[in-house]
Amino acid sequence: LLIISCKNNNENDLAISDDKTSSIDDKVATLLSKMTLEEKIGQMNQYNGFWDVTGPVPENGDQAKKYEHLRKGYVGSMLNVRGVKDVRAVQKIAVEETRLGIPLIIGFDVIHGYETLSPIPIAEAASWDLKAIKKSAEVAAKEASAAGINWTFAPMVDISRDARWGRVMEGAGEDTYLGSKIAVARVKGFQSDDLSTPFSIAACAKHFAAYGFAEAGRDYNTADVGTSTLYNIIFPPFKAAKDAGVRTFMNSFNELNGVPSTGDEYLQRDVLKGQWQFDGFVVSDWGSITEMIAHGHAENGKHAAELAVKAGSDMDMESYLYVEELAGLVNDGTVNIKDINDATSRILRVKFELGLFEDPYKYLDETREKEVIGSQEIHDAALDMAKKSIVLLKNENNILPLKKEGQKIALIGALASDKTSPLGSWRIAAKDSTAVSVLEGLNKYSGNTITYAKGADVSIGKTEFAFEVKINTSDKRDFNDAIKVAKKADVVVMVLGEHGFQSGEGRSRTDLGLPGVQQQLLEAVYKVNKNIVLVLNNGRPLTVTWADKNIPAIVEAWQLGTQSGNAIAQVLYGDYNPSGKLPMTFPRHVGQVPIYYNYKNTGRPTLPGEDIVFWSHYQDEKNTPLYAFGHGLSYTTFKYDNLKIENTFSENKTVTVSVDVTNTGELKGKEVVQLYIRDLFASITRPVKELKGFELVELDPNQTKTITLSLTQEELGFFNNQGLFIVEDGDFEVFVGGSSETVLTDKFKL
Ligand code: BGC
Repeated sequence: LLIISCKNNNENDLAISDDKTSSIDDKVATLLSKMTLEEKIGQMNQYNGFWDVTGPVPENGDQAKKYEHLRKGYVGSMLNVRGVKDVRAVQKIAVEETRLGIPLIIGFDVIHGYETLSPIPIAEAASWDLKAIKKSAEVAAKEASAAGINWTFAPMVDISRDARWGRVMEGAGEDTYLGSKIAVARVKGFQSDDLSTPFSIAACAKHFAAYGFAEAGRDYNTADVGTSTLYNIIFPPFKAAKDAGVRTFMNSFNELNGVPSTGDEYLQRDVLKGQWQFDGFVVSDWGSITEMIAHGHAENGKHAAELAVKAGSDMDMESYLYVEELAGLVNDGTVNIKDINDATSRILRVKFELGLFEDPYKYLDETREKEVIGSQEIHDAALDMAKKSIVLLKNENNILPLKKEGQKIALIGALASDKTSPLGSWRIAAKDSTAVSVLEGLNKYSGNTITYAKGADVSIGKTEFAFEVKINTSDKRDFNDAIKVAKKADVVVMVLGEHGFQSGEGRSRTDLGLPGVQQQLLEAVYKVNKNIVLVLNNGRPLTVTWADKNIPAIVEAWQLGTQSGNAIAQVLYGDYNPSGKLPMTFPRHVGQVPIYYNYKNTGRPTLPGEDIVFWSHYQDEKNTPLYAFGHGLSYTTFKYDNLKIENTFSENKTVTVSVDVTNTGELKGKEVVQLYIRDLFASITRPVKELKGFELVELDPNQTKTITLSLTQEELGFFNNQGLFIVEDGDFEVFVGGSSETVLTDKFKL
């Protein structure tokens, strides 16, 4: 028998014991049988720890209460406590001062890295490189776990078709298939194959569900979606995360079809824990239990706690309602103790899986903390991911790559010298000004003379969570300096877009153009020098329609994290041949939103020879996007031919599609070969195109590779309006190419 964690001194018989052979379920049951109602509820309580946990004991107010609860064993988890010293301070109280010594699970928003930041998630998604994305999550887990963290609130797997929503920066874009693959890569990266190693952390699929479908793209807004969209578009990445073994889910702030997710029994009990058999736990979003009152769903705090626990929200993040209300609700018979036991067991199970009972201090090693955080290995991985995330949107006359010597380069834009903005949103543990700027990068990788001028400000926000970030500065005083340097340059590199604080939670926009006076700056510079390379920094698709028409080269560089400037410079100078593809459609105009590639046809035909749909179009804008989903160029070119569909589908309904891809340019390069299908007639209408396979292939000049992709039942079927998965016989179209605007097509019958 092994004593794995014990206390309290005078109640040693309560020590949690563990013989290695008993299963985690047995251990959970044994422990549960020793717990009081209050201790169980305590496990379901998560507190934010933004206080000086190593400082003096707080004497009054909320902090004193939290501290007191911690000592009594009424806290199961803390978030935002980080660093070995601080985590040790709270863990020691939980383990050594509480009656049962149950360790805390320490949560943190490790969204795209911890202190060393990789690109924002939508940027990583643009790599379509699942190995690299997995590695990025693995590295993030390594760094975060060295700081004492054992649970991340990531990945966000919300699909969104609305670039006005600021949190698109945090997801994998608009597509369910790509989003599901990326969800799996991220979960596996964070959690590794063995959750009990001190290098892996529990992941959290969030926000369940439909948070990305907020009406008008306004954060937290109502979501109203039908069964078909819910099952075919929104659920699959969550289901994929579950199947990949994700240990936690977070519910969402929004209401879905009239019920706030936090209180939605259908979502959490019927679907997640019922149909999908999820055996980890669900954490509420921050204060979302309380928010059910404002939603008009709960009458008061007590009612909110009741609704949430009955619906299957296992852990309360910062609403204080479970700890305050649940015992009373159980005692008066309103809440069944079974729900409390179930929630507590789920939370304890994950703590056992993390190995926290075996050694609650396993993540707390000062030497490791010093060695790992900010290490070369982590920076190298961040740079690698950053290069892979860049998308070349346009490159006329081969203006790119730039020459390394003898070119006079004017570098313009406040974002070009900014060392904080590239860190993007969700960078709580990163220090300001720790990103490599484009100015630094361009200087490092060439012998060119770079002349820099700011041109215009982007924002005046001071901190990430200063929601008053001003995006409409109108100051044009610095335009002249920019025009002056542009006049003398061979090439002008303009870094424009959104500051890193302009996308993210609560950062919705109605205008998707370049914020402030950057558009005017671009046009003013263009008047004196047309040889412009526009480098975009942004957390969401932008309507750079004028730029697309006039500017010869456009590079989508998102917010690329700590190594941003190095990655951008390597791409601009051709040291790295870009291969990213857009994970989200770029509209021509914000009025087209929601715009996405896998839309459905109306009953109206497309007029022959024109790209307008009879009456189902805008009077003032095309229906088509500016840049399609899956679009992205390279410094080389690729040719597709020989599309073949293998007739192996009679028995198991698997279809094999192959295509030859040839590098027809002069440089080695990578291409994302994309396979789409359309089910031409179905009981539930199907989209005009759906991504159902892709492969990242690297080719030398003149090299040809045959790419073979399979369509199994999973890819060929869909969910009907009863939420049942069905595969229907009939005619299908297959499309293949390097973007959703595919080049080859053929048909088959199922
Ligand atoms: C966000 C979550 C996040 C949580 C904790 C909330 O406001 O919606 O995604 O994990 O805060 O920081």
